[in-house]
Parts: sequence; structure tokens; C-alpha cells
Amino acid sequence: MGGEEGNGGGMTKRMWWGSGAARVAPVVVVLLMGAGAVRAAEQTCVFCEIAAGKGAAEASVVYRDERVVAFMDRAPRNPGHVLVVPREHADDALTVPPATLGHLVQVAQRIARAIGRTDLKAEGFNLISNNGKAAGQTVFHLHLHVVPRFAGESATAAAGEPRPVRPAEELAAIAAKIRAALAP
Ligand code: 5GP
Ligand code: ZN
Repeated sequence: MGGEEGNGGGMTKRMWWGSGAARVAPVVVVLLMGAGAVRAAEQTCVFCEIAAGKGAAEASVVYRDERVVAFMDRAPRNPGHVLVVPREHADDALTVPPATLGHLVQVAQRIARAIGRTDLKAEGFNLISNNGKAAGQTVFHLHLHVVPRFAGESATAAAGEPRPVRPAEELAAIAAKIRAALAP
């Protein structure tokens, strides 16, 4: 009786572990797949790639520190149009850590000032961030646009209109000017 109980208890324990493992295993598999999917999404995020120093956009980087990177918009609204992005992926301003958002704005201000010291002769700036599809966001990695503006520009050249991608050499040349103006 005692032996039966012992065996029975042992069997019960093995069955418990067995059924527990059977329950847990698919969850673990799904979690691992989930992490892989997230990594895959980040690997294919164009701004994550630029932030990681990959690709041709590296030549158009104007500023980089431990938290943010700034580079030329490949289809600028105006010459000198820069994007400032967190190096750590965040979809938008709602999900980024607030301190990073604050730093992003500070860097955007420094870049706007630097652009003002170049021969681009900007007369004003837009500092804008589109958050969500309804607001015109097309790249779902948070970015702050620093857009030089000029008196007499067409008010109808609205943000969101398709713009041509500029040659990489042209973007790199403007980036070099902004980097030089940022230098202490
Ligand atoms: P949004 O419409 O999301 O506020 O702005 C996205 C911006 O990213 C656009 O102005 C677009 O020109 C720019 N952009 C999209 N893909 C790339 C890219 O691969 N490289 C660079 N440098 N800019 C990009
Ligand atoms: Zn990203």
C-alpha cells in the first residue's frame, strides 16, 4: 500500500512534470520565435540600419552619440533637411523613453544652429515629427525632421508630397558642411 502510494506518487510527479513541460515548451518556442521576429523587424528597419552604421547613408551622417544619430533625408524637402533618430529602435514619440526624446530635441536644436552657420542660408526651420500613419509617418522608427526653410517658398510644397531622392554625393557634400559647422 505504502509502496503503491510511493509509486503512484512518483508517477504522478513524472506526469506533472511531463504535462508541465508539454505546456511550457510551445510557449518557450513562441517566445523564441517572437524574439527572432522582433530582431528580424529591427534588422529590416531602415533607420536601425543607418543607426548601426550600415549602408550608403553613413556618408551622410552629420552627428552621432551614444543615444542618437542624425543624417541627411535622402529625399529632402530643402537642401540641408536632416533626420534625428534614436539609435535604439522606437516606433514613435509615444514609445521612446522620455529622456531620449528630450535628447533628440536638444540635438535637433544644435543641428539647426549648425545649419544656420553654413552657406545654405536657411532663414527659418521646421522641427517636426510625424507620429502614426494618420499624421503622415512613413518610416516607423521615430525621427525628428530638421527642415531649413526659405522666404518665398511655395506654401503648396506641403510635407507628405513625394520628393525625389537626391544623389548620394550631393547629400554627402551637404552633410560635410553641417559636420564642419557642428565642430567645436
Ligand atoms: P516621415 O514621413 O515618416 O515623417 O518621414 C520619413 C522620411 O524618411 C522621409 O522624408 C523620407 O524621405 C526619409 N527616408 C525614407 N527612407 C530613407 C532612407 O533609406 N534613407 C534616408 N536617408 N532617408 C529616408
Ligand atoms: Zn528601427
